[in-house]
Amino acid sequence: MKKLLFFLKSLRFRIFLMILIFGIAPGFVLRAGLLYAYENRAVEVDEYEISTQAKLLATQIAANDYLDTLYSESITAQMDQMSTIYDGRIILIDNTFRIVADTYQMDEGKLIVTEDVISAYQGETMLTYDSKYHYIEVTVPIVNADSSDTIGVMLISVSTDSIELNLQYLRQWALLIELFLVVVIIVIAIAVSTHMTKPFTRLARSMSDVQNGYENDFEGVRTYSETEQISSACGEMLQRLKILDETRQDFVSNVSHELKTPLTSMKVLADSLIGQEDVPVEFYREFMTDIGAEIDRENQIINDLLSLVKMDKTSANVNIASTDINAMMELLMKRLRPIARKKNVDLVLESYRPVTAEVDEVKLTLALSNLIENAIKYNRPEGWVHVSLNADHQDFFVTVEDNGIGIPEDAQDQIFERFYRVDKSHSNEIDGTGLGLAIARSAVILHRGAIRVYSVPDEGTTFTVRIPLKYSERTKL
Ligand code: ADP
Repeated sequence: MKKLLFFLKSLRFRIFLMILIFGIAPGFVLRAGLLYAYENRAVEVDEYEISTQAKLLATQIAANDYLDTLYSESITAQMDQMSTIYDGRIILIDNTFRIVADTYQMDEGKLIVTEDVISAYQGETMLTYDSKYHYIEVTVPIVNADSSDTIGVMLISVSTDSIELNLQYLRQWALLIELFLVVVIIVIAIAVSTHMTKPFTRLARSMSDVQNGYENDFEGVRTYSETEQISSACGEMLQRLKILDETRQDFVSNVSHELKTPLTSMKVLADSLIGQEDVPVEFYREFMTDIGAEIDRENQIINDLLSLVKMDKTSANVNIASTDINAMMELLMKRLRPIARKKNVDLVLESYRPVTAEVDEVKLTLALSNLIENAIKYNRPEGWVHVSLNADHQDFFVTVEDNGIGIPEDAQDQIFERFYRVDKSHSNEIDGTGLGLAIARSAVILHRGAIRVYSVPDEGTTFTVRIPLKYSERTKL
């Protein structure tokens, strides 16, 4: 049942049906039209011929007073002849509607009053064709040439069996030809529909081959523009999936590596304590402090990873509310100032105007605090960090500028990648997971904004963030 439904819904079946209908319908119409035209024309010819003969005979009948005398060998002979030739019956009716002569000699003396006979008395020639019983009836007035009076009516009824026989013969042939045509068209329809849908079948097969893992590369089918379109869309999709898969694998191996590093340090520290006998208490204290620091680091990485995963989820997870950005920034500065003071870095905020925007406060705060923390971290003693807030009618802008160590030009493209840290040896002196900027970028993208970096090594770095004032639910970025 399902298979049948699948077949009925298929493009192949539809093409087949269309060819069948458009191939067969004209044949039907043509056959019916031709047969109808033939019948009409044949009846017309017969009617014309009979009425001409009948009129001639009627003139002679009137001239010879045949209706009264019924004596004229030539007329009687002519009537018999006509009735034989046309396989018909001739009846003569006088002006009292009485039948005076009948070639079938059945109804003589009887009265006949029909519509056609009355019309004929009024001088009209009537032609009637009965397609059901197959006969033509012609009624002609018999007019006295001198007085122009209608003195009687001649009624000729002629069988059209011969026309019917021809029609039957033609019908049979037409049916045979049509049956032949139907068979030919069905064969053509099957062949064409199969051939035309083949590229789609090939495309589906090639897709499922890739899906089932039989093939790695998706080739696609370029026969039609449509299949080409589908193929290239599929190719792009597969490419994206591959990249996604690679990124995921990279991420997993990076995460494992990063999580393993503190564990390895802890293991080394613990082993070295266990391996020595009579270790002084101070050693224990020192090693345990180091182990504690490694645990903190592990914790930090896990926290950062969790934040990143949250950012990566869809916008369903976003908690948007109209927020006073100035107040948010002030709070952020208050939290970070002690860290700056510790590093002897001057931290200032410059707000150019009041800004209210639709944002997820928690996520945006995290992003900006990562930027400012970096500006403090990668700074020098007596350095400064300038944070500014500005807006136009569409977006608000936050810039975080420092006069710290700067970022080498070739690293600027990569700093937003997960776990990337510039110059490992240098970074080792400064705590970090390499996830801060990845988190910041994800949060900004979640707000449909943009983040840029400008940096000169040994001079300083500026990060600029642009976020729309109004949040929009667009799915495409
Ligand atoms: P981390 O946890 O190492 O700070 P981030 O993703 O926040 O990771 O930053 C990635 C790298 O970019 C850092 O390791 C650092 O080398 C560099 N970086 C980020 N911000 C700055 C800055 N303001 N000045 C100089 N270097 C920076």
